[in-house]
Amino acid sequence: MRLFAATLATETNTFSPLPTSLAAYKEGVFFRPGEHPQDSPRMCTAPLFVARRRAAEEGFTLIEGSCFAASPAGTTNRRDYEGMRDEILDQLKAAMPIDGILFGLHGAMVAHGYDDVEGDIIARARAIAGKNCVIGVELDPHCHMTLKRMQASDIIVCYKEYPHTDVVERAEDVLDLVLRTLRGQIKPVMSLYDCRQIQMYPTTEPLMRSFVDQIKGLEGKDGILSVSIVHCFPYADVPENASRVLVIADGDKSKSDRLATRIGEELVSMRGKTMPQLLDVPQAVAAAVASNVAPVVIADPSDNAGGGAPSDNTSILRHLIERNIEGAALGPIWDPIAVRLCFDAGDGAIFPLRFGGKTGPASGTPVDASVTVVGLARDCWQSFGPTKVPLGDCAAIRIGGVEVALITNRSQALGLELFTNLGIDPRTRRLVVVKSTNHFMASFGPIAKRVIYVDADGPLVSDYRKLGYTNVQRPIWPLDAETRPGLIY
Ligand SMILES: [Zn+2]
Repeated sequence: MRLFAATLATETNTFSPLPTSLAAYKEGVFFRPGEHPQDSPRMCTAPLFVARRRAAEEGFTLIEGSCFAASPAGTTNRRDYEGMRDEILDQLKAAMPIDGILFGLHGAMVAHGYDDVEGDIIARARAIAGKNCVIGVELDPHCHMTLKRMQASDIIVCYKEYPHTDVVERAEDVLDLVLRTLRGQIKPVMSLYDCRQIQMYPTTEPLMRSFVDQIKGLEGKDGILSVSIVHCFPYADVPENASRVLVIADGDKSKSDRLATRIGEELVSMRGKTMPQLLDVPQAVAAAVASNVAPVVIADPSDNAGGGAPSDNTSILRHLIERNIEGAALGPIWDPIAVRLCFDAGDGAIFPLRFGGKTGPASGTPVDASVTVVGLARDCWQSFGPTKVPLGDCAAIRIGGVEVALITNRSQALGLELFTNLGIDPRTRRLVVVKSTNHFMASFGPIAKRVIYVDADGPLVSDYRKLGYTNVQRPIWPLDAETRPGLIY
């Protein structure tokens, strides 16, 4: 039995001012066959990572393809996308005959000329590998579950948790289902329900927590093989941007249709109820300062690099400085030039620095301040579950009572290392501001005595009606009050 595995992934914010080229993949994940590190998966590479570990014991040969992944940003350069795609497809051709394919994709990647990158890759792989090849795909739930990719795949599984702490477990699920199909033990059939809504669904909030736990309980019994809640990725102007429910049953399409419909209808009834309350910036900071527990973690979803934002908006920082807040740490601010200047100034130096507020109108204006360099570190990493995320060279600066973590490789706040690499222990600070929508909860949730979500003025607006979509299929909530949810596959 011969399996092929590869990754090509990013999450594309089509509204982002930051184009994505090959350089962003080289800064992120860029492994040719055999180069993938042994210690942990990187971004979307868990299927290859898991298959490599299990190949010998399960009795199959793994043919490794290339793995390319970039941090979320704007639309990928067309020539760069086609080059990476064709490299993987050429590897697949050279590896034929292949019994099964494992793709670790994101699911919300857009390249110039390709609204549905994953549909394009999977369909081309199907054309090469033939109809009997079993194609299994792992996707991020912040994806566009298009009909094209449903038609070209046998098995698609999304992570269930947001923050995405179950990337490896779901890759194990994909591999299990592919192997069981190849061994003739199951015949997967998929159904897709379209909820006709755009929404975020953190699974750290009580409503989604119980919903996901309930869904997990449905799998592995009564002929149900897998259930995925497709959250959608709101910041993409593509036709099939919508929350959807994907159910895989063993051979019985009417069974997967019924369950997808039941779960889909439940998700429709949760419109507007899954996000935590957002405070404005003065309210959030005042609430944190008035709190008698520490640290209070304030999350800024509006400038989340994980959603393609630049992560250099300065509004909250400016507010902290103007209010003379003591014992505060904020990060990350993406500003490679400012990091370079801090290294040039040296540890302990006090010098005038202009930083942040550069990339686009939603970045605000730069901060000009006399800063003290309080930490410098080369080639830093932060952890996200089992995954290591590169931050590049980093610098910490202090302005009054506020410390700021400046980074070179754009990323959201994921691990405590964002601060501890630079000698800042967030556990001992009164107030910690993190630029992240919800992934920060995996590491910062356990140390936070209280978490406040703030509605700041970064580019990832919380009211999707303000995004100016022109390509998204209508009607869809919250753009339209009346919608027609239903089974579409
Ligand atoms: Zn995601």
